[in-house]
Amino acid sequence: MSDSVVVAGAVCDGGRLLAARRSAPPELKGRWELPGGKREPGESGEQALVRELREELGVEAEPLERIPGEWPLKPGLVLRVWMVRLVSGEPSPLEDHDELRWLAPEEADSVDWLDQDRPAVTEAVRRLREA
Ligand code: C5P
Repeated sequence: MSDSVVVAGAVCDGGRLLAARRSAPPELKGRWELPGGKREPGESGEQALVRELREELGVEAEPLERIPGEWPLKPGLVLRVWMVRLVSGEPSPLEDHDELRWLAPEEADSVDWLDQDRPAVTEAVRRLREA
């Protein structure tokens, strides 16, 4: 059977990257992540990401290119990440998060990212600096 997929977005606006602090579960609470969630049956990764960002942040967002690679979360579950453009709305922590922060590239190391998100964050920041 193929792996289940968690999709996450490197949401960018005005040259900054959006970081979201998890409010649960206890072992992840307080760590920072790229917002996203589990792909549901019948969804593409991009569709799942648009839905998750709408539910979690209340924004309309457009997935751009996928960051190459995928990162194991646990057996049978992998993380895939896209660069994302904010289309409309101001992100609010509606679900799963208790704080959001826009980080300039030089601030990217100022939050305690989940380990599994770090490679994608590094790549997203590299792209932001180039843009
Ligand atoms: O957000 P949700 O609880 O649906 O995420 C499912 C799993 O994906 C969680 O266990 C979380 O650890 C993981 N995840 C992650 N990095 C992200 C988003 C989710 O490791 N950026």
